[in-house]
Amino acid sequence: MPSTTFTMIKPDAVQNGHIGAILQQINEAGFRITAMEMTRLSRVEAETFYAVHKERPFFPDLVAYMTSGPIVAAILEKDQAVDDFRKLIGATDPAQAEEGTIRKKYASSIAANAIHGSDSDENAQIEGSFFFGTRQRF
Ligand code: GDP
Repeated sequence: MPSTTFTMIKPDAVQNGHIGAILQQINEAGFRITAMEMTRLSRVEAETFYAVHKERPFFPDLVAYMTSGPIVAAILEKDQAVDDFRKLIGATDPAQAEEGTIRKKYASSIAANAIHGSDSDENAQIEGSFFFGTRQRF
């Protein structure tokens, strides 16, 4: 049965002109885009989205980076969406990511790592609702 995950194309990948290539790779991997928006996070939104990391030393850098330019947020649907999407994007640090993964191809560094993917079904729901609320989707 199809499940969903949540993604953001992060500011570095948007700035570097990779939106089209990344969305193509996502579609070709069998994900259906059921909601999508290009937007920019406020500081409070970035702090809220990454609240789980607020005690980490990199938190201020993470918030500054995520608010540095536009992002593309989307909800994706597929069987085993969360696990399959984490495989498609690759490891957090692009230097550790497998060949062919989105982070290996498009990320600049562990901080500016091109794309987000939810790490659990529960977080996919929370993150999707954070951006898209309960509006009817296609
Ligand atoms: P993810 O689930 O693979 O995105 O990784 P995490 O949940 O561990 O980290 C969330 C995000 O914080 C990552 O995607 C990076 O953008 C950022 N991040 C993680 N580790 C570091 C770090 O050591 N330094 C900086 N500046 N950012 C980091």
